[in-house]
Amino acid sequence: MKPPIARRVCFPLVVLCLLALSGGGAMAVESRTVLVLYSNGRLVPGNVEVEAGLRSAIESSAERPVHLFNEFLDNPDFVGDRYERTVTRYLRDKYADRPPAIVVAVARDSLDFVLRHRDDLFPGVPVVHAAVFATFPTPLPALPLDVVGVPVGYEITGSLEQALRWHPGTERLVFVTGSTPRDLSWEALFRAKATDLGPKVKAEFLAGLPIDGLSKRLGELDKHSLVFTAGFYQSGDQQRFTPRDAAELIAQASAVPVYGTFSTFLGTGVVGGVMPRFDAMGRQAGDIVNALLDGTSPAALELPERTRNTLSVDQRQTRRWGIADADIPSDAIVEFRQPTFWAAYRRTAVVGGTVILLQAGLIAALMVEHRRRLKAEMTLVQRGSELAHASRLAIAGELTASIAHEINQPLAAILANTEAAELMIKSGRQKPDDIGNILADIRRDDLRASDVIARLRSLLARQVVARHPIELNEAVAQGCAMLDAEAHRRSIDLVVRAGPSPLRILGDPIQIQQVLINLVLNAMDAVGDLPEDRRKIVVSTVRHADHVTVSVSDRGHGIEATHLPRLFDSFFSTKRSGMGLGLSISRSIVDAHAGRLRVDSWPGKGTVFHMDVPLLGPNGTAPKEYRWT
Ligand code: ADP
Repeated sequence: MKPPIARRVCFPLVVLCLLALSGGGAMAVESRTVLVLYSNGRLVPGNVEVEAGLRSAIESSAERPVHLFNEFLDNPDFVGDRYERTVTRYLRDKYADRPPAIVVAVARDSLDFVLRHRDDLFPGVPVVHAAVFATFPTPLPALPLDVVGVPVGYEITGSLEQALRWHPGTERLVFVTGSTPRDLSWEALFRAKATDLGPKVKAEFLAGLPIDGLSKRLGELDKHSLVFTAGFYQSGDQQRFTPRDAAELIAQASAVPVYGTFSTFLGTGVVGGVMPRFDAMGRQAGDIVNALLDGTSPAALELPERTRNTLSVDQRQTRRWGIADADIPSDAIVEFRQPTFWAAYRRTAVVGGTVILLQAGLIAALMVEHRRRLKAEMTLVQRGSELAHASRLAIAGELTASIAHEINQPLAAILANTEAAELMIKSGRQKPDDIGNILADIRRDDLRASDVIARLRSLLARQVVARHPIELNEAVAQGCAMLDAEAHRRSIDLVVRAGPSPLRILGDPIQIQQVLINLVLNAMDAVGDLPEDRRKIVVSTVRHADHVTVSVSDRGHGIEATHLPRLFDSFFSTKRSGMGLGLSISRSIVDAHAGRLRVDSWPGKGTVFHMDVPLLGPNGTAPKEYRWT
């Protein structure tokens, strides 16, 4: 009912007077009601988005308070004349004391309802429509001047064309719809649009199927198919859905990409489509509401002819179906953006990269260090062999007297034999046999002398260490042969007790001899003060399971217990002219043969040095290291 004219005129005057009396100060302003009437249920996702858009756009402040009230017609669950009468009565009673300043009708059913009942319910109240199709399910009728809004134009063809561009091998387009009148309208629309597809693409309509049958068919589709849907409210077996839930079910069941009509489908597994956005529709309606509340007359509003449609996609789905990011137009709305590898794993990548860099640096440093060590070790080995060589020169020096004697002996014999032969020839009494015997003696003595020189040369000449399989008894015999003359010179009994051959080891015969000569010369020094009949040195070789022991024993003065720990140190010597290098060089030679050099000594009674060396295995190999127990 309209207020009487007197009241209509007086009310603003009273307000003005009150404002003047209060000096223009703040005073409570009555809030205005905006009634939003939705076609379907509260939880239909499109409604939720429209409401979010409306609320974000409608300005409400202390100076201009606005109250938004939502009502839901709950189509298609509730329909019919009786239901409409109930709703009309309910709305009239409910809003009698808060008459709406504006009614917002969301979607076509709501707009039709408002158009049918507005004169009865809210006469003269402007109506703003939102999410109302321009042509679907029927073309929008001519609207009164105070019923305004921006109609929605669905771009079914635009969506299909985009989908076909992304999937050029498509031969079949499958349209899925439901069984309510609204669903049937979508089917009719799809059938009309399918004719635009051209002869290359066949259209198939899965309309009002029971869920099982629908899922089965969707699962069987081959790779030359695409699915398009507007969702549905009811399946063929009477199951109720929201369009979004139906789209989700379709996308889950489908073996091929699914495209759709509504932005609310994004996130359900649908790839996307050229579609109006429900939140944008809500914002647009909210802007119109603001203008009307601010006093703009509905007829003066300048509104676009249609809502703006945009290509919207779910990036998870575009990637799933092999659509390159570069093929998505730059003005498309891309939702569910997948972070790039860098964005997703930046922290891990930075930490991992740093660790790898550090590790690489460490490895490089270790390699440099390793090379340096190798070089140092090689230098050390060279120095060691030089030292060993120097030590052999010293031995040769020590043996000079006996060597000279050893060479002198055959030379003297040769001289004596030559003189004898001359006398025989001069006397003319020589017999051919005598001369022959003399010459044979000369040859033997000559060979003896050159033998001594050859042994000496081999001891002194070579510096390079060459390790190969050798017979240890032979090396010991040769070493002792070099010492025979010296032993004789010192009146020492040098006895060799060789264990049964073969005693095959991997070694350098010259170095083994060097150790032996060192040990025997030390033993000679140790027994030097004993009476001649007790000057005895025994060199023996004894075979064990997998190694051989060469022992040099004497009955000399022995070694004091306090000297034992330093015995193998370089430059440790108790001799007046000793260098103290013999034992330390011997130990490093034996170590290099994977062996060990040890000593047992009884002060005043004698000393035994043992050189243990691993025997060659049955297949001719020798251990590089040996665990001595
Ligand atoms: P050098 O013979 O020049 O002294 P070595 O390293 O060969 O150097 O020997 C170190 C020391 O070990 C000797 O000075 C001596 O005191 C002791 N030694 C070595 N062998 C024996 C031994 N058979 N009997 C007693 N002492 C020994």
